[in-house]
Amino acid sequence: MPDIYYVNGRFTEPEGAVISVEDRGFLFGDGVYEVLRAYGQHIFRIDEHFKRLSQGLEAINIFYEPVSELKSLILEALRRSGYDAALIYLQITRGIAKRAHVPQKGMQPTVVIMVCEAPALPAELFRNGAKAILYPDLRWAKCHIKTIQLLPNTIALTQAHAESAVEAIMHKNGIVTECGSSNVFIVKNKKVKTHPADEAILHGVSRKTVLEILRNQEVPVLEEEFTVEELLECDEVFITSTRVEVMPITKIDDKPVGNGNPGQITAMLMEEFRRLTVG
Ligand code: PLP
Repeated sequence: MPDIYYVNGRFTEPEGAVISVEDRGFLFGDGVYEVLRAYGQHIFRIDEHFKRLSQGLEAINIFYEPVSELKSLILEALRRSGYDAALIYLQITRGIAKRAHVPQKGMQPTVVIMVCEAPALPAELFRNGAKAILYPDLRWAKCHIKTIQLLPNTIALTQAHAESAVEAIMHKNGIVTECGSSNVFIVKNKKVKTHPADEAILHGVSRKTVLEILRNQEVPVLEEEFTVEELLECDEVFITSTRVEVMPITKIDDKPVGNGNPGQITAMLMEEFRRLTVG
């Protein structure tokens, strides 16, 4: 089964998937993206992803219409791939123009779609938990917009990788925000906390799904800021994203989280999340 590439109106082989050096995504990081996941050719929470995409486009004044056309395109790309378990990358930039900071009016946005098979993550990361590192949050003031400007995230994740960790838990002024490519939750005395959905974090689709599960299960949950100290003293830590779903973090830098094993609430969430993906 093939990986699928689509650029500006046509499906193509990977060699043909090219854009101009004058694309503002390349020159300025002027664009937004989404990563969606399909289970059995069904895209999980597609409407949530499109809502965030539309809000992101509006926030940076990229005018693309109709967004529903993009939905049909990614469904077509997924169908062409034939993958049951797929990751779909969708990127929209402002388009192509001579390099100038101030964009021209009425530009034609560039649309890129790529579909690949969702890699199976090592089972022991879910069974035993994974390691994360602490890293300063070096990002800008509008992290709720899913822009393609990911340099601080890639620097943080590269450091995590160098230290054999799966994620970098980022913090600013002593407050834990989120991770390089996922949201983070803590559990203390059976109560769950995660950073509020404001401009300091990406409003993850998986984060929202987990909040729904917690509320359905009547587990107390607060969308409230928490400190690095609280993180290091809690009983459970887990991260959420389209790619990992729910993953336990059992080590931060060289310190075990709680008793060093995935906790009960994390285990429940892993199970319930999986249930939703098949249902
Ligand atoms: N936070 C950041 C910085 C991310 O890049 C991502 C996903 O790419 C997430 C959180 C998780 O978002 P979602 O659950 O929508 O995949």
